[in-house]
Amino acid sequence: MSIKSINPYTLEVLKSYDEMTNKEVDAAITKAHTTYQNWKTKTFEEKATVLNKVAAILRLRKAELSKLITLEMGKLIAQAESEIEYAASIFEYYAKNGEEFLKDEKLEVEKGEAFIRKNSLGVLLGVEPWNFPFYQVARFAAPNIMIGNTILLKHASNVPQCAKSIEDIFKEAGAPSGLYTNLFIRGSKITKLIADKRIQGASLTGSEKAGSELAMMAGKYIKKSVLELGGSDAFIVLEDADIDRTVNLAILGRTINNGQSCIASKRFIVVEKVANEFLTKFKAKMSALQIGDPMHPETQLGPLSSEDALKTILEQVNQAVSEGAKIEVGGKRATIKGAFMEPTIISNITSKMELYQEELFGPVASFYVVKNEEEAIALANDTEFGLGGSIYTKDLEKAKKLANQIDSGMVFINHPTKSSIELPFGGTKRSGYGRELSPLGIDEFVNKKLIRVL
Ligand code: NDP
Repeated sequence: MSIKSINPYTLEVLKSYDEMTNKEVDAAITKAHTTYQNWKTKTFEEKATVLNKVAAILRLRKAELSKLITLEMGKLIAQAESEIEYAASIFEYYAKNGEEFLKDEKLEVEKGEAFIRKNSLGVLLGVEPWNFPFYQVARFAAPNIMIGNTILLKHASNVPQCAKSIEDIFKEAGAPSGLYTNLFIRGSKITKLIADKRIQGASLTGSEKAGSELAMMAGKYIKKSVLELGGSDAFIVLEDADIDRTVNLAILGRTINNGQSCIASKRFIVVEKVANEFLTKFKAKMSALQIGDPMHPETQLGPLSSEDALKTILEQVNQAVSEGAKIEVGGKRATIKGAFMEPTIISNITSKMELYQEELFGPVASFYVVKNEEEAIALANDTEFGLGGSIYTKDLEKAKKLANQIDSGMVFINHPTKSSIELPFGGTKRSGYGRELSPLGIDEFVNKKLIRVL
């Protein structure tokens, strides 16, 4: 079966690629393994040179690469351009700081010497999603290449042109063959690769199902894994919040990347004193969003990444309505060509509904009214996810105390959860484990070897 690039705005097939045969995949693993033997001996300077060249090519070809993102998965063009810049910065960040992050750590001992040395592990498998096709790859590949590991990258099947172009950029940057290899294979075939002795670890960003299947195999074959899965971030509005500013942030938090981000704000939890004002303003702004061509600079909401993605979210909304939920605004497929969902707000959601525990990967906000802060925290934590979350109030000391009570990997105050190179990114509970970006992101796939001198 071929891997197809389909434009979700026009629904036109742009390109097809043949899936790799088992023999081709095996040859790619061999190559990555052989290259590893040499790459791990390179100096930090040599490794940084490749990463900096990758960054420079990304910046140079920003216009062309961002168009590719928008064509393949429908991201607004300005956001695609920012993504390319951000990916380039991640390569530069690890090129610049990798040596410092990986330096020996001296331990206090009574006699002799002891230190931790961070060695490379070997060939790693990255499984990445379509929603940020360059950024997701950068945050996995950059630190690991700096460590001395080599990368096999299985990208999502709906962004094959992006996947291929990343491999080509590494070649153009002078990376040795086998340092970064794109695998054109289906997700369902990936877990078998974990058993391969030449592969030392795997990182996956995507759904819980894919993550759990990969982690099961990693457990069976005793390999390190990192999982960055879904999220259902709470957006908690307290009564002293600046409502106009908070509503603007709610729109940003819910519609960034056309609503398809693991750290998007998904559950809007508002204390009753300000609930009506918040909802009225939120509805007005959601329904005024300009939907359309993601290449057009004035468009505010583009299509979902595929027809399947649209079908899934429509089913979730319809199911909730059939169980008694209320549509405040939107709720349907938009009446233009392409995989468009109307900007939607749903209320009257109860804990008995399926939607209550599901992630909504699109521009659909769940709206809840609570009596007070205690109820807000209890509702925020009543989810199997634990990725991010945000609190809106003028009382920062109170917000910091409340942040302590939220079961998630990241809590933001007065802004939706956001990724930054120098800050750790990752979750708890069913949102996964491990951290990416920041100094922590380079620590996942290293052998922290004790060296003891007596
Ligand atoms: P998937 O988890 O199916 O896809 C993500 C990546 O995993 C792709 O490369 C995919 O390959 C691969 N994959 C799929 N099945 C397996 C498997 N059994 N073993 C190993 N790898 C696998 O996500 P979808 O794109 O289908 O999106 C479904 C939901 O996942 C979304 O609605 C959202 O809730 C969540 N998601 C979360 C993301 C995040 O940023 N945390 C990103 C994307 C999705 P292939 O494309 O070939 O199937």
